[in-house]
Amino acid sequence: MALSPDFKLWCELQACIYRKALAKEPFEALCAFDLAKYLRIQVMPPGFVPKLRWNDRQVLQIDDPEGWSAVTVIGGDVPVIINNTRHQYPRQQADVMHELAHIIRGHRPMTLERFPGNGMFIRQFNRQDEAEAAYLGGCLQVPEVGLKQQFEKGVQDVQRIAAYFNASKKMAQYRINVTGVRKRYEMK
Ligand SMILES: [Zn+2]
Repeated sequence: MALSPDFKLWCELQACIYRKALAKEPFEALCAFDLAKYLRIQVMPPGFVPKLRWNDRQVLQIDDPEGWSAVTVIGGDVPVIINNTRHQYPRQQADVMHELAHIIRGHRPMTLERFPGNGMFIRQFNRQDEAEAAYLGGCLQVPEVGLKQQFEKGVQDVQRIAAYFNASKKMAQYRINVTGVRKRYEMK
């Protein structure tokens, strides 16, 4: 799914704007849970969501505890992000950022709908929206300006960069690749 250079620039700008709102430097790490709080979006594990139907709760917690990422549901008037607390912390950060990206971007929040017969859920965003949320979520977690600052400081180890941003190694590597940061510093 092609994303325009303008869109990518806009994403980096959002990462910067929200850091400023939360009194952080543009290159610093930003906690997804802090950003959710700032946006007045509640994040909770499945057991705490009162509006979730009992059957859904059972599926999320018992039947398939690992097999889902965060999802956004509408509980009353405000969106609520249901976070899978069984995942590793960096994955939770990425998943919550991804859901926040959908909300920031103004995508229609998904409803939690049971796929007939197999207990799976249908995510209701289209492919373009998913591609946008994936990109924006990554930017919010690991902004280009933050990567540059790490490389500037001489930190080029993916594991260390990942740890700095509360990100998975995979996410850090992905962001290094799509921003082309390493290449730019190797050429210097
Ligand atoms: Zn999504």
